[in-house]
Amino acid sequence: MSQPTTLPAQIVADTIIRTVELGVRIVDAAVAGEITVLWCELLVEGPGRCPGCGIAGTYRDTSERRVSDVPVVGHPLELRVQVPRYECRHDGCARAIFAHDTSRLARPGASTTRRCARFILRRLMLDKSTVAAAARELGRSWDTVNDIAVAATSELLLTAGPARLDGVEVIGVDEHKWAHVRTAEADGFVTVITDLTAVVAG
Ligand SMILES: [Zn+2]
Repeated sequence: MSQPTTLPAQIVADTIIRTVELGVRIVDAAVAGEITVLWCELLVEGPGRCPGCGIAGTYRDTSERRVSDVPVVGHPLELRVQVPRYECRHDGCARAIFAHDTSRLARPGASTTRRCARFILRRLMLDKSTVAAAARELGRSWDTVNDIAVAATSELLLTAGPARLDGVEVIGVDEHKWAHVRTAEADGFVTVITDLTAVVAG
């Protein structure tokens, strides 16, 4: 029998959370009520390049970017990522200060990691979960989760193109009262078109 190998705690944590997908490394963790908080460092190779002129910046300070990640053991997960900031000292560049690129972690300005979009689509489409349930799991608002779902679905449809309709022979069309859009400017109804090919084929 092989002997168990002792691994540094950081490797264990990074492996479980698969931080390699996010471009970060876990440095500390805490349980904050319902939420699990992970403090992370951004993995960088040298100073960041100015988005204005493309020249490497001079380190200034570190800021913290907070984003929700996919839940772990049923609890919302918040990442607090230390992000280096730089000064651009290039003459003629309009950019004075900029943060290191974190686009692998999350879209600019987003409050959730990129892989949250995948998580949300899987919960809504495959598990038939509600937006409210996915929002609760992530610890984010209904609107945030709905916005992510709409954006990710649009992207998916554009990527798939008309080929996504290959094999569709029977469709069902229905009108649904959509309670969440009960506003003055919206009538609150959506038209739902469903692929019934598999259902009709038994
Ligand atoms: Zn610059």
